[in-house]
Formats: sequence, structure tokens, C-alpha cells
Amino acid sequence: MDFRLDKAFAKKLDDQDDLSKYRKKFFIPSHKDGESIYLCGNSLGLQPRSIREAIEEELKSWEVNGVEGHFKGTKWVSYHEKIGKLMEPIVGGESNEVVVMNTLTVNLHLLMVSFYRPSSKRYKIVIEGSAFPSDQYAVKSQLQFHRFDPKDALIELHPRSNEGYLRTEDILATLEQNADEIALVMLGGVNYYSGQVFEMDIITKKAHEIGAVVGFDLAHAVGNVPLELHRWGADFAVWCTYKYLNSGPGAIAGAFVHSKHLDKDLIRFAGWWGHDKSRRFLMEPDFIPMKSAEGWQLSNSPIFSMTPIKESLKIFNEVGMERLREKSKLLTSYLEFLLNSLESDRIWLSPPFKIRGSQISVHVRVDGKELFEKITKEGVICDWREPDVIRVAPVPLYNSFTDIYNFYGILKRNL
Ligand SMILES: *Cc1c(COP(=O)(O)O)cnc(C)c1O
Repeated sequence: MDFRLDKAFAKKLDDQDDLSKYRKKFFIPSHKDGESIYLCGNSLGLQPRSIREAIEEELKSWEVNGVEGHFKGTKWVSYHEKIGKLMEPIVGGESNEVVVMNTLTVNLHLLMVSFYRPSSKRYKIVIEGSAFPSDQYAVKSQLQFHRFDPKDALIELHPRSNEGYLRTEDILATLEQNADEIALVMLGGVNYYSGQVFEMDIITKKAHEIGAVVGFDLAHAVGNVPLELHRWGADFAVWCTYKYLNSGPGAIAGAFVHSKHLDKDLIRFAGWWGHDKSRRFLMEPDFIPMKSAEGWQLSNSPIFSMTPIKESLKIFNEVGMERLREKSKLLTSYLEFLLNSLESDRIWLSPPFKIRGSQISVHVRVDGKELFEKITKEGVICDWREPDVIRVAPVPLYNSFTDIYNFYGILKRNL
């Protein structure tokens, strides 16, 4: 589409937008007498308006049913199963492959216990050089747990100089060069810093060719780009639900285990909620894992923390990831067009269009933090990441083209 620079054009795009009605389903944080320009859904998604009532329903069930709430009303005993079902299409998982439990880093550890099984020859783990700190800590501590030195056993992928993103060909070359030593390839689906979408299908294929296991951290990918974990053949994946999935601060996370592993007796750290559910209340001493991703659950579900995910996923399933992605591309390329029109030497953008989701990282050459603080004062909510990036996330469910236009106006005034 040929974009234009005037405000009326933003209004026109909003009028043509099928998804514009979804904005009303969310609370938009305020600024002075109006609404802020919220471009931070990659960090904490906004609150769906239906959540309060849904949580009150669960409180009511507890009030009137006590322990019997496990089997009455929304039936807490199987509550997580419904949420798993709603989650499947969002990540491209088949039945039994998806579970909602714990938090992201916890799930990463639990699945590495099963899927990082190093030998003295094949023990290395590949991660992004700029991986999110929690992933780095988790992976390094797993290496140490198995008595390897991260200095030797960790392979970090870095962009070529001044490119700000990783080329797929470089990732594949690294796998090829270390083919006999890599046990696990553990990458983000979308890099949190650059917004780059990795070619997960191609990476999975190559990793399997060299005999490695593949896991993805989908924190910035889920609810952002369509995912096909089953079809790609990823071995496992984990994600949080408070970023694009709008399920609230510290909300319960998701995990995927490919069906090809579900019949195996994999080593794991077990708990009673992973035990064969038909025998759970027999209180037997020996663990029989469920042949589904649920087999990695430890504890019974925290219902009040699960409710927001259910409400949020209803919206995602109604809209569908394909339609969201369509709008996301349009919204993000509109932002890119406006930013490029500034022709400013002070900023540059990453990554290039083909491989990004709903995020542009605006690199600022001088006094970036100061620029960020100025636009924040004027009602923009986005975030600053050291050393030089303002991350801007246009989210298709609740951001309008007018939001993007107004952001551009504020940035321009302060550049
Ligand atoms: C947001 C994020 C996390 C956060 O982990 P929690 O366990 O939810 O605190 C971890 N990894 C990545 C890549 C993230 O983007």
C-alpha cells in the first residue's frame, strides 16, 4: 500500500480496519484528560474488560461451593484443560501438546530437564548472544547443573556488525560447524531486543539434521506471529502470557511438547498433577506420567490466575492469528514509513521488514534515554532498553493507525 503522511490518512486506515472494534474490549491507560499512546504490548499487554467479571465468577464459586467448586460451575479440576485447548491454535499445537502452567522460566527449566540430556561428546547449547537475561541464566545454570563450563559449552549467536539482527544463513552455518557437539538449540521465536522473527521451521530442520534437540522461547512470538510448532517439528517450547497475550502481570505461562515425545518415558521433575489423571486420587507412590504435555505439570492450577488467560484467549480465537498478522504488518509498516520519512541521522531502525513482528526497535545514536523521557512525558508508553533502543510495539488488537500517527508527531517534535 502507498502510505501518506497526513493525519487524515491515518483516520482513513482506521475506518477501513475490520479489527478496530476490538480496541473497545480493552482498558487503555490514561494520560492527562485523555488516553495514552500505548505501544508497550510486547512488555505488558492491556487488560481485557471482561476479566473482572470472570474472576468474580470464580470467587463466587469458591464462596458458595467451597471445595466442591472443583467439580461444579467451571470445574477447577479440569480448568487448565479448557485453557490448553484455547491455546493450541495460537501456537499451532495439536491436541495433548499444549499445557498452561507455572511461569516461563520455570517451564524452561522443567523442559530442559527432559530435553537437555548431554553426553560427554554432545553437550553444547546454542542461544542468541543477546538472549533475554532470564534465558541466559537458565541455560547457563543447566549447563552447570550437568557439570559443564558455560565458557566452553555455550555457543552464542551474534549479528554481523551494524546489522542488528541474525541472518538465518549464519545461524545454519554455526549449527553446521558444531554439528557433532550441539545437544540443544534454544532460541527465541522473536528476539526481545530487535523484534526479529526467526525462521523457526528452517532452524528446526537443520538442528534435527545435525542430531540436536530444538526448543523455542516464544515470549515475544506468541500472540504476535502465527506459529506452527507441531508442523515445524519443534521438540518443545515455552512462553509467557502477559506480553502480547494480555493475561496480566506475571500471569501463568504455556508449554508445548511435540507428540512424537509423548509416548516416551522421559526423565522429568514430577508432581502429582502430571500423574495419570484417572489414577490421581488413588494416591499411589509411583509416578505414571500422562501421555500429554500435562504430564509435566507439578501442581493443581491457580484458578484466579488462569481466568484472565481464558478471557484473553477467547478474543484471540475469535479474531484468529492470520487476521491479526495482516493488520500487524500494515500497522508496523505504516510506522516504518512514518519513521523513515523523518530522514533523521539520529535514529536507525531494526530489523528490516521481512522478518519482524509487531515491533520496531528505534536505535538512537545520541542521548536516546533523554529522547525516550521526553516522549514519555507527552503520553507515549513504550520502553527503553540499554544501550540505545526505544522499543515500539504496535499491537493489532488495540492500537489504531491514529495511535501510530500521534506517536510519530510526538517523536518528530522531540528529535
Ligand atoms: C519476558 C521474557 C521472559 C520473562 O520470564 P518470566 O519467567 O516470565 O519472568 C523470559 N524470556 C524471554 C525471552 C522474555 O521475553
